[in-house]
Amino acid sequence: MANLTALANELASGAVQVLDLTSPLHSETPILNLPPEFGQTATFKLEEISHYDEKGPAWYWNNFHTGEHTGTHFDAPNHWITGKDLDDVASVPASRLIGPAVVLDFVKEAQANPDFLLDVSHIEAWEKEHGAIPKGAWVLFRTGWSKFGDDPKAFANADENGPHTPGLTVEAADLLGTKRDVLGLGVETVGIDAGAGFSLSVPFPCHNMLMGNNKYGLTQLRNLDKLPAQGAIVIAAPLKIVGGSGSPCRVLALIQK
Ligand code: MN
Repeated sequence: MANLTALANELASGAVQVLDLTSPLHSETPILNLPPEFGQTATFKLEEISHYDEKGPAWYWNNFHTGEHTGTHFDAPNHWITGKDLDDVASVPASRLIGPAVVLDFVKEAQANPDFLLDVSHIEAWEKEHGAIPKGAWVLFRTGWSKFGDDPKAFANADENGPHTPGLTVEAADLLGTKRDVLGLGVETVGIDAGAGFSLSVPFPCHNMLMGNNKYGLTQLRNLDKLPAQGAIVIAAPLKIVGGSGSPCRVLALIQK
């Protein structure tokens, strides 16, 4: 109780700040484009029901159309075949939507090489400096990629060989999936795997090894530059879509000023 009262006071005084890590959802929000032989996810669309007019004189409201994996979103374990018998997005325990955040800053590396892959040695070096990744943590991979978030073409960074965006090696994905007790991985890019993740020795290793080990993904995060390397608390709030594989998600961080 005392801790929550202290937190309420610090929120009121501004000593604890709330940061929004979410990208805005609109018709231009970048989405993943798969090769044409596969099914495709939908962009976000608003469909007006009424706007203080003859269809609803005192009220404004919309229907919306989108994919589960559009914009800043949550990947549930059943999103991937390796996690097909694990939780859907509605079954993820609420206690596993909130946890301490660690921020691994690889902006320089991703700027120099858009195909940069975070490896085990990078994670171990981070832990040597900051301490072990805590139990129940959100691991946030900061690449600076969110600066392209309003430009779908730059965000995808695709050429004839496919998209070029940073991600994790197979070994690093395995480390987070099986050797650290984390909630999941958060990234600034369109999905939790590298743009060229299909070509790795285990294709899409983050999806394969995180979903398969009952862990989660958060994508298209913003404002990671405003977070400390450790010490923030992150709250991810996906819609409780029964049977769903994921959901657009509001992601908030609490930071001590
Ligand atoms: Mn996804």
